[in-house]
Amino acid sequence: MIGRILVATSNLGKLVEYGRMMEEGIEVIGSTDFPDMPVPDEDGRTFAENAIKKAISAAEYSGMLTLADDSGLVVDALGGEPGVRTARYGEGQAFDDEQRYMLVLKRLTGVDPPQRTARFVCATALAGPGGLIAVTEGTCEGSISFGPRGDNGFGYDPIFIPQGYACSFAELSDDEKDLISHRRKALIEMLPFVEAAFQK
Ligand code: IMP
Repeated sequence: MIGRILVATSNLGKLVEYGRMMEEGIEVIGSTDFPDMPVPDEDGRTFAENAIKKAISAAEYSGMLTLADDSGLVVDALGGEPGVRTARYGEGQAFDDEQRYMLVLKRLTGVDPPQRTARFVCATALAGPGGLIAVTEGTCEGSISFGPRGDNGFGYDPIFIPQGYACSFAELSDDEKDLISHRRKALIEMLPFVEAAFQK
């Protein structure tokens, strides 16, 4: 085994994706292994700012090499919303990701296909007990469907149609999503830094 990495998230969907995309020999553990670990406020203006904050805080607490991810959906016709607030979109009226993506669909009522463009963005930050090591970002372009479709994946997958496809992320197999996802692109760029950190 090369080593263990903490992926600082309690979002099972993200954790599963990192587990299957991480290089062989690197064991992924999630924040649930540190039940008392403090979770910093996600008050950054960018995905990268939030990812850096989460990575540094979790690496300091755990003493482990830590990867944090801040991600979300950017919808052009909503002026970039939900953006960095994707996990908290519609606070007070939406209480889980299904209610949140239904709110996105509602707010896009009457918006025609050419104006329904959107992208998933994922920023990853790698930190160790000594501080921040690297930051990367990946994007997956696409558009918002007219209704939820499919049961795979997690979060907003049922309403996102990646560019060049006729089906939603939630209708793709795990392997198909992993080939094109925002998370995959951010991780591919990050892997050399992960390997280098384990060689130190
Ligand atoms: P975070 O944990 O603050 O990064 O919140 C991410 C938000 O974006 C959550 O609501 C996730 O469900 C959503 N999200 C991030 N990546 C994906 C994805 O690959 N598919 C569907 N939803 C995602």
